[in-house]
Amino acid sequence: MDVDIEYHWTQSQRGAPALQIGTNLYRIQKKNKNGTIRLTCTDERCNASVTMYEDKIKCMRGIHRHQERILPYHIGEMVHEFRQVATTDLRTPLPQIYDHLAKEFVCFFFLFKYFFLNSFRG
Ligand SMILES: [Zn+2]
Repeated sequence: MDVDIEYHWTQSQRGAPALQIGTNLYRIQKKNKNGTIRLTCTDERCNASVTMYEDKIKCMRGIHRHQERILPYHIGEMVHEFRQVATTDLRTPLPQIYDHLAKEFVCFFFLFKYFFLNSFRG
């Protein structure tokens, strides 16, 4: 059975390949001979796991016993962009940078404005 779940390949903080699903991050635990890949949650207390085969999520097991670990993928991308602009363009006030980027990502920025404005330079 295929589970149609959106995921993104990204990197762990140590630079290892990691799979992001929603607000959780998985690292590769094992590549099996039959071509499936088993990934486990990067939170060590958590036993949630995912099985992939041919770039599809085949199976998800376990329940995450922790808070959200990372920002949802699209939000994370925007945080990255905001941080880059905020740290390279020091003369422009943050709310102005925010408003500029917000035009591209309206709904996300609306939801996360507080987060953005309080997470940088500070
Ligand atoms: Zn977990």
